[in-house]
Amino acid sequence: MAILIIYTGGTIGMKTNPETGALAPFDFNQIETEMPELKRFGIRIDTFTFDPIVDSSNISPKEWIGMARIIVDNYDKYDGFVVLHGTDSMSYSASALSFILQNLDKPVVFTGSQIPIGVLRTDGKENLITAVEIAAAKRGGRSVVPEVSIYFQDCLYRANRTTKHSAEHLNAFRSHNYPPLAWAAIDIKYNYDSIQKIDFTTPTISMVDSMCENVVVLRLFPGINHSTVKAILNIKGLQGVVLECFGSGNAPEQEWLIAEFEGAIARGILLVNVSQCKEGSVNMELYDTGRRLKSIGVVSGGNITVESALVKMMYLLGLSLPYHILQEMMTRSLRGELTSLAIK
Ligand code: ASP
Repeated sequence: MAILIIYTGGTIGMKTNPETGALAPFDFNQIETEMPELKRFGIRIDTFTFDPIVDSSNISPKEWIGMARIIVDNYDKYDGFVVLHGTDSMSYSASALSFILQNLDKPVVFTGSQIPIGVLRTDGKENLITAVEIAAAKRGGRSVVPEVSIYFQDCLYRANRTTKHSAEHLNAFRSHNYPPLAWAAIDIKYNYDSIQKIDFTTPTISMVDSMCENVVVLRLFPGINHSTVKAILNIKGLQGVVLECFGSGNAPEQEWLIAEFEGAIARGILLVNVSQCKEGSVNMELYDTGRRLKSIGVVSGGNITVESALVKMMYLLGLSLPYHILQEMMTRSLRGELTSLAIK
C-alpha cells in the first residue's frame, strides 16, 4: 500500500522560522520528521513538492494540468493521492481535477488547513492524517472513494460540489447541494450511496492537457448597466460565460440585456445559468424572467456551484466540441457535479 502526497503550497505547509518569528514554508520532503504520526500508518508515504510552491490565489489552469500530470504519471505506483493545497482556491482546483482526470478509479483527496502545520493549534495535522486514511481506504480490494474529494475538519465532500465558505472557521468548506461522502468522528463513516460508482471495465486513467481560459463569470445585480454587460460580452476571444442569476435562474427582463445575451449566443459564446443562491437549483421554467433566457439559448447549470461551472466550461471549451454538444454536456452531470434531475 502506498500513498503519494502532493504538496502544492498554502497555509498547511508553513511553520514559524525560529530566527525571524515569521511563517515560512517548510521542506515537505521532511514531513515524516515533522509528523512522526504518519509512520504509524505502516504504509509507504511518498511526497512530491511543487517547485516553486504556490499560494493558491496564484493557481491557474497550468498548475491544474501539472497536478493531474503528476497523478497520471505515478498512477500505477500508488493506491491513492493526497493533494495539499491552499484553501482559497481549493474548490476551483479540486473541481478542475475532477474534469481533467478521466477514468479515475483511485482516490484523489484534497486538503489543507486554516492554521499552519507548524503552529500548536494547527488543524493541518488532523486534516492530513484523515486524508491519508481516506486515500488508503479499501473495501473488497477497491478504493472506497474513487473520485476527487476535499477533506476538511470532519467531512469529506465531492470536490466539484464544494465552495469555500469561511475565511475564519476551521470547517472552511461546504457542499450545499450534495451530501458529504464521509464523516470523520470516532470512526470514519462512509456514505456509500453518495460515492461515485465506478465501472471497472472503463479504460485506464488519462487526462486532457489544455483548458480554455477565454471565460468569464458575470454576476447580475439590480442596476447593472448596458455598457458593463456589453463590454464583458464583447471581450475579444470570449468563448463562455457563467451567468450568476437571481434565485432560480432569473435575470432582469430589459430588452437590451436579452439582446446582448442573444448577440453573444449568435457569436458562438456559451452562456450557462447558475444561481447566486448557494442552495437549490436553477429552474428556468418557473418565472417569465427565466423562461426568456431559456428561449434564447441560455442553458441551465442546475444546482452546480459557480466554481464547478467555471472549470467545467474551461474543460469543455478546451475540447473544441460543436456548440450543441457543449450545451448538452454543460447541462449533464459528467462527474457528479450537478443533479441531472434538477435541470430545467
Ligand atoms: N492564502 C492561502 C492559500 O490559499 C490560504 C490557505 O492556505 O488557507 O494558499
